[in-house]
Amino acid sequence: MDLEKLLSMQKLCINDNPATCVTECPIHVDVKGFICEIRKGDFEEAYRILSKRMPFINVIGLVCDHPCENLCVTNINGNAISIHELEKAVTIYGSMAKIKTLPIPKIDKKIAIIGGGISGITCAYDLNKKGYSVDIYEKENEIGGSFLKMPEIILNPKLIKEEIIKLEEQGIEIKLNQEITPEKLKDLTLEYDAFFIGSGEWNEKFNVNEVTMQTEIEKVFAGGRIVSGCESVIQSVQTGRCAAVSIDRFVYKKSLTALRAKEGAYKSILKVDIKNEEISPRIKPENGTFTKEEAINEALRCVQCECHKCVKACVHLQKVKLDPKAYIRTINQNERIILGDHYANKTINSCTECGLCGAVCPTSINMADIINETRISMVFRNKMPLSTHDFALKDMEFTNSKYFELIKHQPGMNNSKYVFYPGCQLSASYSEYVIKSYNYLMEKLDGGVGLYLGCCGAPAKWAGRQEQYDSSIEKIKSNLEKLGNPIVITACSTCFSNFGESLKNIRIKSLWEVFDEKGIPLGAKPGNGKTLAVHDACTTRNEKGIQESIRNIAKRLHYEIKEPEFTKQNTKCCGYGGLVYYTNKEFSREVTQDRIKDSENDFLAYCAMCRDLFVLKGKKTYHILDLIYGSGKEEISDMKVPTLSDRRANRFKLKKELLDNLWGEKMEIKDEYNDLKIVFGQELRDKIEDELILEGDIKRVIGYAQKTNDSFYNPENGHILAWKRFVNITFWVEYQKVNDSFNIINAYSHRMEVKGV
Ligand code: SF4
Ligand code: SF4
Ligand code: SF4
Repeated sequence: MDLEKLLSMQKLCINDNPATCVTECPIHVDVKGFICEIRKGDFEEAYRILSKRMPFINVIGLVCDHPCENLCVTNINGNAISIHELEKAVTIYGSMAKIKTLPIPKIDKKIAIIGGGISGITCAYDLNKKGYSVDIYEKENEIGGSFLKMPEIILNPKLIKEEIIKLEEQGIEIKLNQEITPEKLKDLTLEYDAFFIGSGEWNEKFNVNEVTMQTEIEKVFAGGRIVSGCESVIQSVQTGRCAAVSIDRFVYKKSLTALRAKEGAYKSILKVDIKNEEISPRIKPENGTFTKEEAINEALRCVQCECHKCVKACVHLQKVKLDPKAYIRTINQNERIILGDHYANKTINSCTECGLCGAVCPTSINMADIINETRISMVFRNKMPLSTHDFALKDMEFTNSKYFELIKHQPGMNNSKYVFYPGCQLSASYSEYVIKSYNYLMEKLDGGVGLYLGCCGAPAKWAGRQEQYDSSIEKIKSNLEKLGNPIVITACSTCFSNFGESLKNIRIKSLWEVFDEKGIPLGAKPGNGKTLAVHDACTTRNEKGIQESIRNIAKRLHYEIKEPEFTKQNTKCCGYGGLVYYTNKEFSREVTQDRIKDSENDFLAYCAMCRDLFVLKGKKTYHILDLIYGSGKEEISDMKVPTLSDRRANRFKLKKELLDNLWGEKMEIKDEYNDLKIVFGQELRDKIEDELILEGDIKRVIGYAQKTNDSFYNPENGHILAWKRFVNITFWVEYQKVNDSFNIINAYSHRMEVKGV
């Protein structure tokens, strides 16, 4: 597995980027973070978070001009989160927070601050924290700049005084009534390592670098109103802070410009989708300031911006509690160590490889590719037990064996311009539709329509058995060559997608597109305006042509279409993908259930497995062929679905019928012990279905036991217990012989099962 590629994928995730309210705050207060604490009612923790980035919190928290607020993603119709009012509430209710102040070791460097306004005291505060000796020169008889001009109702002068006292306590020397002119500054040059001019007025003109706040005068930096030209409190704080960073770098002769792109306000790259969020109106403080309760309710309106589109859409990611970034990290860390243990197995084998995460992700991180590569790697390193995907791989083997595989030119023809490839699942679920569709194609298309019954190799691909998949594709390629490389018409989305990806020189078309172009088969009855929700197959999420054809056919048959919440490119998996249906049935059912809830309308599917899984979960679902050949009758939509044993039998029967009816050939294959009569109740039938045991397996165990007498007999109840190991799985059957039939009491197998996640 290419670990470099894996890590570079991980870096594409934007979820860790700060929310707009944080990036648009000139000093990057963790707005989302402190709001999160208010939601929990923890104002002290909120205060701690606010004070990490905000100096003089008890003052600035009350008077910040909050440029972030307008840019909050909830700012629709003026209903942005009241960030400023919340800040005020934190300042009021959280000020009892015990914030640890550690003694700061002083360094032998002195800085002079000219002007005790907002930018000046911020610069002084930040440099003092770094250990500098700081003197503030103020021409008036008190410091505080524009704070002092604010009305008392907004800012109580007592609070300003308290903050100034704190500055003095921290060791900052405040020199009042000292006007520093440009000439005086020159005199002080030798005494100080650098200067910051934060005075609102200055007699000399100078240019200030906007990134570093450095002037063209040796050792002199500037900020505040003379630089920004505006009255913004928080902007003044930002310029003072920015200058403090520069002064520190200047004193230590470091680059003044390196890595400063994200200082001050900037655009967040976090993409937040709030279309499904209900943004309620702002809560107004009844008495001018939020009560605690009002603040909590207002904070609860915040959507706590994050991307996580993938997690919100995917039940697997929700279940494993990992977003792709953490998931990739885990895969990367475990690649050489843990993969192959029970945890890794059940996690990796519970992704349906549906690709929805990649479709919704703003940076297209697709876990389907990553998970599939991981499975390939596990197989390569012998970390994937054979039994994990055993049933599906054996099913594929059966499908590509003499029991089902069939490759023919159209009856009476020696060449094929087209070949119909219905796929193994449609053949297993609705063999009669395959026959009808084939007859239609032969009638509508000129140049010969061959028939190819087989499996496209999807089970091997999903199981990470790359070699097996490649050799299956090679075989299909060579069979198509023998047919003269016809245009392949598929009736299965997975075949369509696998062939499109792996048979680059072959043209692939879906049966639905042919119906759409050549006309719906005669006899299809209209649906009287019934509303259906189209469930697009996840394997063809990017095939607009197929998606449109399905909708066109349905509309032509007078059905109304109402799209489910996740549709077309963003469709969800039905629960079958990635072989999850076999490796983790319990979870597969959750995936099916998750999809069902996306629409109240009956579903219209065009993959046989999707239809069957939905119906098994109680969702009325039509296959597109049910509308065409079944006239959309109500009873079809919840018609019983075939069991795994039926599915095998149906494929076999289909081949037999086609050979007999179209080519006049008799199929003389018989399964050993197939004629044994076995009888069992519904409960046991459901159990063996769940445990992936076929009736054929049971017959083979009994047949073998009857032939060899290799079994246990229980004289107390007359039951026989027989067993037989087929390759890597041992099947056990408890039965009773009654006349010429066998009553099955119980059946089980020793096969590794993946349960849980
Ligand atoms: S919704 Fe909340 S987290 Fe998002 S921008 Fe607004 S305040 Fe910040
Ligand atoms: S491929 Fe599908 S199941 Fe797997 S993580 Fe992505 S959305 Fe979830
Ligand atoms: S969708 Fe998921 S993987 Fe993509 S950026 Fe968002 S959080 Fe990251």
